[in-house]
Amino acid sequence: MITNTISAHELKKMPPVFGQLSFDDHEQVVFCNDKDTGLKAIIGVHSTILGPALGGTRMWDYPTEWDALNDALRLSRGMTFKAAITGLNLGGGKAVIIGDSKKDKTPELMTRFGEFVHSLGGTYYTAEDVGMETADMDLIREVTPYVTGISEEKGGAGNPSPVTAYGVYMGMKAASKYHYGTDNLNDRRILVQGIGHVGEVLVDLVSKEGAHVIIDDINEDRLKNVSEAYGCEIFKGSDIYSASYDIYAPCALGATINDDSIYKLQAKVIAGAANNQLASEEKHGHILKERGIIYAPDFLINAGGIINVYAELEGYGKKEIKEKTENIYNTTLEILTKAERHGLTSHESALKIAKSRLAERKAPKSNKF
Ligand code: NAD
Repeated sequence: MITNTISAHELKKMPPVFGQLSFDDHEQVVFCNDKDTGLKAIIGVHSTILGPALGGTRMWDYPTEWDALNDALRLSRGMTFKAAITGLNLGGGKAVIIGDSKKDKTPELMTRFGEFVHSLGGTYYTAEDVGMETADMDLIREVTPYVTGISEEKGGAGNPSPVTAYGVYMGMKAASKYHYGTDNLNDRRILVQGIGHVGEVLVDLVSKEGAHVIIDDINEDRLKNVSEAYGCEIFKGSDIYSASYDIYAPCALGATINDDSIYKLQAKVIAGAANNQLASEEKHGHILKERGIIYAPDFLINAGGIINVYAELEGYGKKEIKEKTENIYNTTLEILTKAERHGLTSHESALKIAKSRLAERKAPKSNKF
């Protein structure tokens, strides 16, 4: 029973849901609550213009519910443009579960979340993101077909992270080619921030090419293990952003390119897996351009994962997944070239291409009985 009422004065002071900073004409935002399992989740469906909204589920211990909502809104919007620029017939969606994945995740909670996904009838397809494993997707698959990223044993395309890392590697090479005139990463000093599912594979790929890799993570055990496995240096300084390296690869969480970090950065190229790397797309995109730092747009170069899970829906195989992911190299070069020609930031240039594809296709709005 609800016992408290909110006064009109208090209501006026509350931030409006549709007026959230990250609200961008999202089609649907679903709040999922289950008392028995403790599930609190938000599913953001930004657009279904190109197809069903597909995007991973993130489980994170958000400081406030507003932070969780903001993340769901920002991430689902990003997925719309990621699918559009990659040429996939998918819309943009994303879900967040509020909680610590190491402590709060239970099979019951995951299954209940799957039931909420199912209740949307295929408007939204989920997959894995931070805090999720392939095994979680297998659990969700037991209650809904609207899930991707399931294990190969269960008929899926498996963990998308290695493919994401390969796409980031392609984007990094293209951005290096654009800046240095060569895409060879031998001897480049590369900082990989966040050595989780994607970051570790990226470390492997660039190490094999002879890059000098520096790693950073909040997880000390991972730092030790990855450093030992690939022979890379652990970042030891006090401020990661002002340290000296050629390429910065953000592979942890978003918004690391912000008011605080942007003028300190000495890297000449930014290419990483994290979603929403620019705290403000417009402001920080322009500062990077003025500073002559080549930024490979996140939503383009981290599209390998969605290419991989899309294969489950379309039924294409590993060869096509590899070809589509390799094409990130060409698209990155095209976007950087167009950005320079038209005086745009690389992010604006990428968005322009994505938005033009969306504009070509009208939303299937009419649900006639
Ligand atoms: P993950 O959870 O496996 O790894 C993230 C890593 O970042 C962890 O090791 C964590 O300890 C570390 N980390 C968290 N906060 C940090 C901080 N402040 N400083 C340094 N390290 C920190 O996640 P992942 O699947 O590797 O994804 C990484 C990023 O790439 C996320 O932003 C995700 O949204 C994005 N992304 C992932 C995929 C995919 O296929 N997994 C696809 C597209 C985009």
